Amino acid sequence: MTTKTLSVSAIANGSVIDHVLPGLGLRVMQLLNVSPSPCQITLGVNLKSQSYRQKDLIKIEDKELSDKERSYISVLSPRATFSIIQNYEVIQKYRANIPPMVSGPFICLNPSCITQTEQTAHLFSTKVVHRQIGLTCQYCEKTYSEKNIGLIYDSLSQSV
Ligand SMILES: [Zn+2]
Repeated sequence: MTTKTLSVSAIANGSVIDHVLPGLGLRVMQLLNVSPSPCQITLGVNLKSQSYRQKDLIKIEDKELSDKERSYISVLSPRATFSIIQNYEVIQKYRANIPPMVSGPFICLNPSCITQTEQTAHLFSTKVVHRQIGLTCQYCEKTYSEKNIGLIYDSLSQSV
């Protein structure tokens, strides 16, 4: 007898972010800044994936991601897929969409970058090479990967 179980339980309404790069699920949640919200969130880390070896997966109840949030997550996980769930059914699905330029929650960590001392908005150009994303600071030209780019929420939580 075989039994099939879901690694992560289904949700009635909300969003599913699938195919997040393994280990980056927590960063995606930081990026969404959902921790103080009443949303119920399920995070699956290093789940088995058919198309890729491993993945993280996030289910957020009663939240629909904005276009901006999806583009930010796409920068952290260029293979991510986004599903909107209503009544346990997928009603819409989006693929990752990486904008050519990105600002928002991403920050440059170079101590000699002008953005460290002046109230200048951080701005990065994005480039995908061999499925790896590179974010290049428009001020100091330092390039980051999705794993070592700074998030504004990191520095907020460090200063508390
Ligand atoms: Zn910089």
